[in-house]
Amino acid sequence: MALAFDEYGRPFIILREQESKSRLRGLDAQKANIAAGVAVSRILRTSLGPKGMDKMLQSPDGDITITNDGATILEQMDVDNQIGKLMVELSRSQDYEIGDGTTGVVVMAGSLLEQAEKLLERGIHPIRVAEGFEISSRIAVDHLEKIADKFDFSATDIEPLVQTCMTTLSSKIVNRCKRSLAEIAVKSVMAVADLERKDVNLDLIKVEGKVGGKLEDTELIYGIIVDKDMSHPQMPKQIEDAKIAILTCPFEPPKPKTKHKVDIDTVEKFQTLRKQEQKYFDDMVQKCKDVGATLVICQWGFDDEANHLLMHRNLPAVRWVGGVELELIAIATGGRIVPRFQELTTDKLGKAGLVREKAFGTTKDRMLYIEHCANSKAVTVFIRGGNKMMIEETKRSIHDALCVARNLIRNNSIVYGGGAAEISCSIAVEAAADKYPGVEQYAIRAFADALDSVPMALAENSGLQPIETLSAVKAQQIKENNHCFGIDCNDTGTNDMREQNVFETLIGKQQQILLATQVVKMILKIDDVISPSDY
Ligand code: ADP
Repeated sequence: MALAFDEYGRPFIILREQESKSRLRGLDAQKANIAAGVAVSRILRTSLGPKGMDKMLQSPDGDITITNDGATILEQMDVDNQIGKLMVELSRSQDYEIGDGTTGVVVMAGSLLEQAEKLLERGIHPIRVAEGFEISSRIAVDHLEKIADKFDFSATDIEPLVQTCMTTLSSKIVNRCKRSLAEIAVKSVMAVADLERKDVNLDLIKVEGKVGGKLEDTELIYGIIVDKDMSHPQMPKQIEDAKIAILTCPFEPPKPKTKHKVDIDTVEKFQTLRKQEQKYFDDMVQKCKDVGATLVICQWGFDDEANHLLMHRNLPAVRWVGGVELELIAIATGGRIVPRFQELTTDKLGKAGLVREKAFGTTKDRMLYIEHCANSKAVTVFIRGGNKMMIEETKRSIHDALCVARNLIRNNSIVYGGGAAEISCSIAVEAAADKYPGVEQYAIRAFADALDSVPMALAENSGLQPIETLSAVKAQQIKENNHCFGIDCNDTGTNDMREQNVFETLIGKQQQILLATQVVKMILKIDDVISPSDY
């Protein structure tokens, strides 16, 4: 595209390869963009809430994902419309910043776009709409601050945190085990949290999965696990107060290379060589013992003879451990990786309270648990499940729960879920609209309507009459001046979300509103779309 001027100095745009481009301008551009954004959000709408549906996505190479996590659905959908991609980004940023509420944010943005379209059709300029939305989002965010409740918990009383994580998990496939998974999530966050600085480093929580067993077998390990076993079946399965030598050098006698020549022509010579080799390895084992190692973890393999000798000399060993895992073990146990055998010294040994090998089922599948490590607070959530899809979805659900617990430690304000916060904001925004004399007033009212779309979607997905349910709850909130009423998705008989323990974090909800408004404003400001025509 180039800008040129005609003989009177008037500018005009030259589009290169004009015939192969299509161009939409003005209202057409906005409408096309809105339609694209709304289409993406409609897909997610049915996944919202505890009764939301799951989506099954198949990748080009046949891998199947079943999930109801907004960010994951959009990530795997391979959206190639540019506006659609903005919605994907929207969900991703919510995931990145907060970790939960990724479906809600897209549903909210979609309904803001639908409302914006109506306003544009009535002849209101997009900039006015954008400004109105901006004002409303600020009103809503401030209102959330006002209705937020403080949430008390301590290192000894984690029950409230568990309850909140359960709300997050209740809309996932893992719903069945939400209590135990929520407990695992909270305990692992507490294990790595710095409550004084209100900080949680989620990198210290590793989430691992292995196909097999039941979801109920999912466990929290105060340490790390490695998908390896002791090199010999008769080595001890449990080592307390382990001192670990972490080797990246070969743990066996050096093998003659092709450029060496060894002439063996008598039995004696062969036996001498063999003895020497044995002694060499014996010395290596002795050296490990001398520095005080009670376990050797090695990146390389060693042959059966060496293995037998290790068993005999009572020095348990693990072979073929990957580089990344070795590093992790070294960090967690406070040990140093030893690249040359001569460099092995006592101070380079890693320390762990307990190293144990655990077998699973009848498949002879064994894993190594390294627990109570010296240096690190690192913990591992070890997920079991019937198939890979289930494990992947559980990993995503646990991630959401971990993020919720982390957010609450960072900021312990909460608002009520089930659409209660949105309905309360909608009432506040609607009330504020009258104070604005200009055209923004319409946009502000539209924003209030858009806020209603979240509780409506929740009601719809739970098989309730959306409009009737919403208006009843809204009336109840106004009448009783209580912002805790939301949609009773699970048909528990009460729609007081405080009673049902359905909370969401204040920062999560605020972020949803801010991010959704931002994206919608961006889409509204595009009035020219130039693209290749085959697109
Ligand atoms: P997201 O990816 O946005 O977190 P979810 O599918 O997890 O989407 O749904 C979250 C929505 O469901 C929130 O609005 C939350 O308040 C609501 N919700 C969760 N559990 C319940 C429940 N038991 N009753 C009513 N609403 C609930």
